[in-house]
Amino acid sequence: MTDTTHTNSDGISDISIIGAGPAGLFGSFYAGLREMKTEIIDALDEPGGQLTALYPEKFIYDVPGYPKVISRDLVKYLVEQAMMWKPAMHLGVHVQKVIRKDAQTLELVTDKGVHATRSVLICAGVGAFSPKKLPNPEFVPYENKGLYYSVRDKAIFRGKNVLVVGGGDSAVDWALNLKDYARHVTLIHRRDGFRAVQSSVTEMMHSDVEVKTFYELKSVGGNGLVTSATIFDNRTKQETTIPVDGVILTLGFNVDLGPIKNWGLEMVGTRYIKVNRKQETSMPGVYAAGDISAEEGVEPLNLIATAFSQACVAVNFMYQYLNPGSKAFPGHSSEKKL
Ligand SMILES: Cc1cc2nc3c(=O)[nH]c(=O)nc-3n(C[C@H](O)[C@H](O)[C@H](O)COP(=O)(O)OP(=O)(O)OC[C@H]3O[C@@H](n4cnc5c(N)ncnc54)[C@H](O)[C@@H]3O)c2cc1C
Repeated sequence: MTDTTHTNSDGISDISIIGAGPAGLFGSFYAGLREMKTEIIDALDEPGGQLTALYPEKFIYDVPGYPKVISRDLVKYLVEQAMMWKPAMHLGVHVQKVIRKDAQTLELVTDKGVHATRSVLICAGVGAFSPKKLPNPEFVPYENKGLYYSVRDKAIFRGKNVLVVGGGDSAVDWALNLKDYARHVTLIHRRDGFRAVQSSVTEMMHSDVEVKTFYELKSVGGNGLVTSATIFDNRTKQETTIPVDGVILTLGFNVDLGPIKNWGLEMVGTRYIKVNRKQETSMPGVYAAGDISAEEGVEPLNLIATAFSQACVAVNFMYQYLNPGSKAFPGHSSEKKL
C-alpha cells in the first residue's frame, strides 16, 4: 500500500498518524484533503483498530449516516476514503517512542525503523490490546486451530458445533450471531448472571442456543484441530465432554498503553493523553484524537462519532500549526472537485 507521495522531497512526512482505527483513518482522509503528506502506522496487521480486532461482525447503530453498519464494512469504507489520497500505510509496525529531533522535525522510533515527520497525530485508542487467555498451556497448540480468542471471519463456523465461553456482550453476541449459521451453539458461563445487554440475553434465552450456567472449560481434545471440549459444572465438579469444532473464548482483553505513557506527554490519569480543544497535547506538534485523548475534567465519550470529530479538529489545527497564518477551517468538501 506504500506510495511515494507520502513524503515531501526531503523524505519527511507532514503528518504521521499512529493508529489505523476510526480516528486515524478519518484523520488520514482529512490530512489528504488538506494536501498534507501523510503516513499511518499501526501495530496490527489490518486497519480498523478495535472494530477489526474486537468486533468485526457486529452491527454498529450510532455512526452518522448509517442506520446500521457492520463493523467490518465501516472499516472498508473508511480505508477506501482514506486511501483516496494514497497515504503510506505501515501495518504490523509498533511505535515505541516519539522524540523531537529539531525545531521542524519529530522522529517516530518503531520496531522496524525510524520515521521522520513534521507533526504527529496519536490515535492509539486503548493502546496495544491483547485478549485474555486461559493460563493452561495445554490450550496453546489449539489456538487458531479450532480455539479462538478473537474471530475475524465467522465463515469458519458455518455448519460447525460451536462452544462460546463467557458471559459478557461479546459472548452473547457471538452466540446470537452464529445461532443460524453454525450447526449448534452452546454457551457456557461460570455464573448465572450475564454482563451483557439484557435484551440480547433475553433473545439468547429464547433461542436455540444451549446455555449452560455454572459451567467452565476444562480442556479441549483433538488431533491438531479441536474436535471436543470437556466442560465442568463448577458446583458439582461433574465433567461432560461435548463434540465441538470451534471454541470461542471471550474472556475480555488486557489493555496496555505500553510505551505511550513514557513519551513525556501530560496525561489525564494513567489512561488518557491530555488534550485541549484543538486536540493539542503538551508536546508541540503532537496531537491526539479518539479513545486515547481526553480533556482534563471532561468525561471522555469513547465512541466512533467522537473519534471522527476529534480527528477532524486535530488535523485541521495541525495544518495551521504547519502553515502559520493559515485558516484551520478547511472549507467545504462539497465545493471541491475530488
Ligand atoms: C465490543 C465493542 C463494541 C463497540 N461498539 C461501538 C458502537 O456500537 N459505537 C461506537 O461509537 N463505538 C463502539 N465501540 C467503541 C469504538 O470501537 C471506539 O470508540 C473506537 O474504536 C475508537 O477509535 P480509535 O481510532 O480512537 O482507536 P482504536 O479503534 O482503538 O484504534 C487504535 C489503533 O492504534 C493502534 N496502536 C496503539 N498503540 C500503537 C503503537 N504504539 N504503535 C502502533 N499502533 C498502535 C492499535 O493497534 C489500534 O489499531 C465499541 C468498542 C468495543 C470494544
